[in-house]
Amino acid sequence: MNIPDIIIAIDGYSSTGKSSFAKIIANEFSFLYLDSGALYRGVTLFAIENGFINDNCEIDVPGLDKALEDIDLHFGEGGAYIGDRCIEAEIRSMAVADKVSPIATVPEVRNFVDRKLREFGAKKRVVMDGRDIGTTVFPNAELKIFMTADPLVRARRRADEMAAKGDSTELDTVLKNLQERDYIDSHREASPLSQAEDAIVLDNSYMTMDDQLQWLKNIISEKFGK
Ligand code: C5P
Repeated sequence: MNIPDIIIAIDGYSSTGKSSFAKIIANEFSFLYLDSGALYRGVTLFAIENGFINDNCEIDVPGLDKALEDIDLHFGEGGAYIGDRCIEAEIRSMAVADKVSPIATVPEVRNFVDRKLREFGAKKRVVMDGRDIGTTVFPNAELKIFMTADPLVRARRRADEMAAKGDSTELDTVLKNLQERDYIDSHREASPLSQAEDAIVLDNSYMTMDDQLQWLKNIISEKFGK
């Protein structure tokens, strides 16, 4: 199936499988995949390691903002990097998951990430996933999808994913973390998680990846012709 040079924006709640779906789409249509959450997670790891956020989630905003001028956060082979250090494993840890939503409320951090995403997206044929891609980062994206799923189904999926990587965090802890993130993400002042008016909702609680891809192909056929 051929599709035109467009931006596909995928937003939605935590652990709804946005990145898995986006990767499949990128692969199917030869699009570039950009994981905006990885940039927020990268900034969070950097903030933890450099003392810009403490255990109570108090953030040294001026210090962090200044330090972001020099951070070399980018995507490379196997995921996100700071300089030549691959941080893909660390940014998926509970330590980072616990602090990423507070960090993502900081407008200076959001500006930093938005700038990077817009640079990457300038070329089109990009699929990007996050919380505010279709509302703030690329409000003119030609195709916007808003993903949701039953919270328990989401927690199970995330816990299974973590278990497969040797992280045995309890299901309850994972559920609590994703509900907290959903709450903070939906209620923050700067670009809260919300469904763009022209986004198409995908509830994938009981859908396989094949079902989701077929769903998308139907939409693309309707919207852009074959
Ligand atoms: O997508 P992922 O779960 O990796 O994102 C981690 C966190 O980064 C989210 O819970 C949210 O707080 C923040 N985020 C955001 N805006 C985005 C992407 C992620 O605020 N576009």
